[in-house]
Amino acid sequence: MATKNWLDDFQLSHPLVIAGPCSAETEEQVLAIAHALKNSDVSIFRAGIWKPRTRPGGFEGVGEIGLKWLQKAKEETGLLLAVEVANAHHVKLALQYDIDVLWIGARTTVNPFAVQEIAEVLQNTDKIVLLKNPVNPDLSLWIGGVERLQKAEIKKIGVIHRGFSTYEKTKYRNNPEWQIPIELHSKFPDLPLICDPSHITGKRNMIQEVSQQALDLNYDGLMIETHCNPDAAWSDAAQQITPEVLKQLFVDLKVRKVFD
Ligand code: PEP
Ligand code: MN
Repeated sequence: MATKNWLDDFQLSHPLVIAGPCSAETEEQVLAIAHALKNSDVSIFRAGIWKPRTRPGGFEGVGEIGLKWLQKAKEETGLLLAVEVANAHHVKLALQYDIDVLWIGARTTVNPFAVQEIAEVLQNTDKIVLLKNPVNPDLSLWIGGVERLQKAEIKKIGVIHRGFSTYEKTKYRNNPEWQIPIELHSKFPDLPLICDPSHITGKRNMIQEVSQQALDLNYDGLMIETHCNPDAAWSDAAQQITPEVLKQLFVDLKVRKVFD
C-alpha cells in the first residue's frame, strides 16, 4: 500500500520537532509552554491528557478539560496539537477538539485489541497517527501495529522510538536497542521515524546525546518533553527540559543526512 510521506507537507529544512509537557496540568501551564515554544523549531505541541501510569495512585491526567486548554494554545500560537490516545473514546474526544496528531503510547501498542479499536475508529482519517514502539523489545508487535493502521487506510502514519523496558537497570530508562527501529524502518521506509529521547533516557542531561545519535541515524524527527518548571512537573519531572534548553539543543545538534 502506498503511504504518502506526510512530512513533506511541513516543508522542513530540519527534523520534525514535537515538544511540550509530559502532561497537561493546568491551563496556565499549557499556555505558558506553548507560548515559549512559538517561533522555534517546534511544529507540533504535545501534551498527555490521559496518562497511562504503570502503578495506580499517581496523577492519571486531567482528561477532557485539557483538550480545551490545548485548543486555546493552538488558537494563540498556531502550533499543531498532539495527544496520546489509548482507546476509541479518547480518539472520539480528541477528534471533537480537532487535535491534529494522535499518538499511540508504548503501553497501548502491546495490546492488539486496543490498536485495532483505535485503527477502526480512525478508518480513512487524514489525521497524523504516530505509533510508539511497544514497551517490550518485540519487533513483530510494532510491525503488527503499523499493519493494523495501514489496513484501516490511515494515510499519515509515523513511528516513534521511545526505547524498551529491561529488568536489569541500565543507564537508560528504556534501552534504545537501535537495531529494532532500524529494522522496522527498513520494512516501512516511507514512514517517518521519530525518536523520543525523553523516554529513552529518563534524564534531562542525556537528551542531547541520544538526540544526536538519532539524527546521525537519519531519523526524521524528535519528540522531546518540555516544561517551564521541569522539577515541579506532575509526571516525568527528571526528563523534561525547559523551552530555553530545547532551543539551545537545536543550535547545538548537528543535522546530518547520512543516507541521502
Ligand atoms: C508519554 O509520551 O508521555 C508517554 C506516556 O510515553 P510512553 O508511551 O513512551 O511511555
Ligand atoms: Mn512522559
